[in-house]
Amino acid sequence: MIPDVMTDRPTLFNELDRTTLGKLAPTSLVVLPVGATEQHGPHLATGTDTFAVEHITRAAAALASDSGSIIVAPTLPFGSSDHHLAFGATMSIGTQTYYAVIRDLVASLITDGFRKILVVNGHGGNHELVQLAARDLALLHTEVRITGPRVSSGYALEVLRRQPDGRWLLAIGDPFTIGAALSAAAQATPVHR
Ligand SMILES: [Zn+2]
Repeated sequence: MIPDVMTDRPTLFNELDRTTLGKLAPTSLVVLPVGATEQHGPHLATGTDTFAVEHITRAAAALASDSGSIIVAPTLPFGSSDHHLAFGATMSIGTQTYYAVIRDLVASLITDGFRKILVVNGHGGNHELVQLAARDLALLHTEVRITGPRVSSGYALEVLRRQPDGRWLLAIGDPFTIGAALSAAAQATPVHR
């Protein structure tokens, strides 16, 4: 069933106040969609990656809302798109800066009290940097678990099943497979710090 995102809306981070988010954070899954603003050939809008990952993430969160509390963070509309600059119509964040942006945003969510964090990536150029940030965050926050470099929904589910009580950061390369992973992630119980 495709949820109607106009009526069946997910819970959005930026529509809640700090009191509400503070109460929800310890038991909620927070999902951060990351996109890009770049040329997409002569026929598609420069926001294609961002529109797609935001829509799919919100629809999946609405669909999986019966599984537990899911909060969708604002979509990061810029990505690592230096390889598109030669074509024009592109706004890119450089490699080191993009890595730092992801690391800082996820670290903020950890400080906010979230124990279950899912980064959903809608642009290929972001992939390695999201994974690298995830790996470094896991070293800093030993209770955070990460998955392997290329993640299918089946693999993500297997990891979640094996670590039902773990705390994790999960970076997923393919936004089209997140529905089932979101359900499993929302159902899992986080450990308390
Ligand atoms: Zn892209």
